[in-house]
Amino acid sequence: MSIIAFIGLGNMGGPMAANLVKAGHRVLGFDRVPAALDALAKAGGGVAPSAAAAMTEAELVITMLPAGPQVREVYMGEGGVLASAKKGAQLIDCSTIDVETARAVSEAAVGRGFDMLDAPVSGGVGGATAGTLTFMVGGSAGGFERARPILEKMGKTIVHAGPAGNGQAAKICNNMILGISMVAVCEGFQLAQKLGLDTQKLFDISSKSSGQCWAMTNYCPAPGPVPAAPSNRDYQPGFTADMMLKDLKLAQQAAQTSGAATPLGAEAAALFQLLVGSGLGRKDFSVMFQFLAGQRAG
Ligand code: NAD
Repeated sequence: MSIIAFIGLGNMGGPMAANLVKAGHRVLGFDRVPAALDALAKAGGGVAPSAAAAMTEAELVITMLPAGPQVREVYMGEGGVLASAKKGAQLIDCSTIDVETARAVSEAAVGRGFDMLDAPVSGGVGGATAGTLTFMVGGSAGGFERARPILEKMGKTIVHAGPAGNGQAAKICNNMILGISMVAVCEGFQLAQKLGLDTQKLFDISSKSSGQCWAMTNYCPAPGPVPAAPSNRDYQPGFTADMMLKDLKLAQQAAQTSGAATPLGAEAAALFQLLVGSGLGRKDFSVMFQFLAGQRAG
């Protein structure tokens, strides 16, 4: 049994912390939102009045926060993790944030003698609840091995992606590919409809041909061919378009700072920005299919 401080108990952090409780760990949580604390208490965890209070005894501090600014504040702000965590504690940030912030926070943590990992996830709220998340981990090999048994209580696939920041790098590269391929699949199925080609026929052909990809075969944005896909439940998420836009923007930011050419990533970010601007941000990101249906050729 480990003593774990868990900070950020939202849609993802709440069920992740609950799985650690279920695995027999002593979890002390903190969130700014009282309802999130109540949910952890109901799941059998302890709640703390502040982030600092949550981590006085903890051997491990896990954070699951919205974005880079919150991670900076929680780690490097007054009374934050770097000032309050116990000597020798391991720090794991599971939020999806920009690579630069991840590396800066990790450098500051290592400078204070802590072992720190960036460990963003994929798998959504369903994966967080079922304990089947994929963790993409950046940090030292020793730190990865130390964290693995705990991460295995929240996830099914745990991959060491390299040194600090590489977990975030893996996450945004993967999600940029997903965002681009989702737009491509939406365009293909829209064009098929205009050409009088049946949706199921295109699916049967393309899912066995060179156009095949995850966005089509597991998550088809056109209603019909994949019964479990959000397209068959009015695009209820799933993975929201807001989240996809966030990740595409992170990818563009990283492309600019690193000098990588990502013209389709930029186009996908611009399209999701328009979609979100039209009020569809809380829908599943595959709602791009409906959004494109409302557009006319330019
Ligand atoms: P969320 O908004 O539901 O949860 C974030 C929590 O952090 C909130 O409860 C908020 O109150 C808390 N918080 C913010 N600032 C705080 C502070 N200073 N101190 C303590 N608590 C604070 O978001 P989420 O959906 O749980 O996502 C968390 C992270 O996981 C994000 O980076 C997101 O991009 C990533 N992610 C989300 C999904 C998903 O499907 N929801 C999937 C993969 C990755």
